[in-house]
Amino acid sequence: MKLFRNYEEYLDTVITMVRDFSDESLYKIGLAINVSSSLLDDREKIHRLNTTLHQCLWQIDEAVEIGFHRYIEQEYKKTRETLDYHKVNCKGECCLICKDRNKTINKLRNTNEREEPRIYAQQA
Ligand SMILES: [Zn+2]
Repeated sequence: MKLFRNYEEYLDTVITMVRDFSDESLYKIGLAINVSSSLLDDREKIHRLNTTLHQCLWQIDEAVEIGFHRYIEQEYKKTRETLDYHKVNCKGECCLICKDRNKTINKLRNTNEREEPRIYAQQA
């Protein structure tokens, strides 16, 4: 059985999986999401984001210890279970999972804003 059903599910899961990653890692992942969104094929999108995720895992002791593949598999399954449970049990405004996700999404979005000046500079 495939671990990742499709890119949408993969991205949804990654957003919760990377919540404790460093700002630098989240910046890289934000860039990868930008690139992925311009690709057409789901497999390529997953591959692009997965490649960056692997780079960031060097900072996670447990991932280095047990191996990236095993770590991703373990965290992915755990996170999917949490998110499937969350889907039907979200507490709304005081929901911790939503709060965590919004915080991460904001950091990932900041990537775009940080990128813009550089793009403008290249055009000038
Ligand atoms: Zn929630």
